[in-house]
Amino acid sequence: MTPSGERALPQGAKAASRVAAVAADASDLSIFSAERLRLLESAVVNSYDSIVITDTGTPSSPHPRILFVNEAFTRLAGYTAAEVLGRSPSLLQGPGSDHAEIARMRGCLARGEVFTSELVNYRKDGTPFHVEVRIMPIRAPDGRLSHWVGVQRDITARIEAAAERERLDSRLREQQKLESLGVLAGGIAHDFNNLLTIILGNASLARGNAGSPQALAQNLQFIESAVLRAADLCRQMLAYSGKGRFAVRPLDLNPVLRETAELVRDSAAHGRTLQLDLADTLPAVRADATQLKQIAMNLLLNAAEATEAVSGCIRVSTRREPLDSARLARARLGAELPAGDYLVLEVADNGCGIPVEIQDRLFDPFFTTKFTGRGLGLAAVLGIVRAHHGAIEVESRPGAGACFRILLPACADPAAPAAPHRAAATLAGAGRTLLVADDERVLRETIGGFLVSLGFKVHLAADGREAVALFRAHHRDLSAVLLDLSMPHLDGAAAHAEMQAIEPACPVILMSGYSEDEAVQRLTTRGIARFLQKPFAMAVLLDALAVVLEAR
Ligand code: ADP
Repeated sequence: MTPSGERALPQGAKAASRVAAVAADASDLSIFSAERLRLLESAVVNSYDSIVITDTGTPSSPHPRILFVNEAFTRLAGYTAAEVLGRSPSLLQGPGSDHAEIARMRGCLARGEVFTSELVNYRKDGTPFHVEVRIMPIRAPDGRLSHWVGVQRDITARIEAAAERERLDSRLREQQKLESLGVLAGGIAHDFNNLLTIILGNASLARGNAGSPQALAQNLQFIESAVLRAADLCRQMLAYSGKGRFAVRPLDLNPVLRETAELVRDSAAHGRTLQLDLADTLPAVRADATQLKQIAMNLLLNAAEATEAVSGCIRVSTRREPLDSARLARARLGAELPAGDYLVLEVADNGCGIPVEIQDRLFDPFFTTKFTGRGLGLAAVLGIVRAHHGAIEVESRPGAGACFRILLPACADPAAPAAPHRAAATLAGAGRTLLVADDERVLRETIGGFLVSLGFKVHLAADGREAVALFRAHHRDLSAVLLDLSMPHLDGAAAHAEMQAIEPACPVILMSGYSEDEAVQRLTTRGIARFLQKPFAMAVLLDALAVVLEAR
């Protein structure tokens, strides 16, 4: 007995008896009144929810059998009462039933506990319906379990509406993705076509200008500058895809910002103030200085353009802030980031602000609202921040300026100085031998021709297989190998592995259109002496060769 004199019943039975007690108190009807039974029966029979009463089975067959169903049950499940009486309620299960939930239900029932869940059941004609179900134990006055009452509410409409919403949402997401991809592909094609037209036009002109060195030099200069712009476009795209990272080290953000602010101060000067408000003691961030400069530059130029029409004020500030997961989850790219100490780089302006309807698209590549805009600035910012495991917050009210906040995880190590920059090398081949492997004939022969002009002896290979064969034959004479990563038959990674097995000491310079991080991931072997990301100028190739040959 409990202190209140109640019998110690299992929890579900206790709750049910409490409900009964409240009902009895609230009515004038005596417990055994026939009138009360008639009213309760009428409530059960006419309930909109389906009600099923079962026994608890027999000693020989412990499965509950249906003793009563109301009209809502027959409407919902499509059986007549006569068709289900005496049968197990498991007749409602079907091919899509959730077996884990049914096992949980059996466990609850075996322990005499109330079971609540959402389940899929099946009508007599085999069609599924969704129910919110509650099964309660009924106990005899002696406390023995005697019956089960199951109440089911039809929630098919709600579940189907939610599924339809999800279908529509995913179709919308798909559509938006296709739209962004369309803008991206269109933008790249447009920019590259312009550059290719310049290159093609000047190549044709150059043919006709063979007799005029001055005109020819101008054609070549136009070609060179178009190629450099194309390379810049590729760099921005690589930044957007988060794969343009290199030279990561613990870095002090403030000097990077001071340097960038100096660079843009002139273009931002006209009638604007550019205010730097940098925290004195900042922890370092693990980052690439060039990429961070690119972030600061893109944000500052945007702020300058947004404040063109007003007497503008741009404020760049840094601070350290502990950020919790909730704040990070609200930031773009922040959902998966751990709570902790972050560096906040904020660029705020009092310019035109950003209309709400475009705030979701700002970071899409080639999205721009400017007549001469390219729409790559914020896309590159997004990619770089993603590659640095950071997040972005944007706040803006149209007409009241914009504020971009870059959140970067603080790093425990102190900032490390940058590696000193080497002056461009001059190099003479002096009869040394090199192997150049690239499947792109023009590129292979251009590099080969350049190296021969410096006095090197050069073997050229058109694929990985040929490269390995030449390496096997000449490795004793080779000073270095220039190896493309993507080649037919045997790619650069596999060719490199075979070369390592023949002669591990011969230095290999890897060339690839991929970024260094990605290219190195594709290698299973170590021992790459240098990496050249295509496109590269011949001076950069020279620099790499000078380092490699000097070390031998
Ligand atoms: P672009 O500057 O070439 O248009 P971005 O990717 O840098 O490309 O910017 C995309 C768009 O975001 C801009 O065209 C502009 O509409 C909006 N935007 C970016 N920064 C700001 C800012 N500080 N104030 C108002 N609008 C901005």
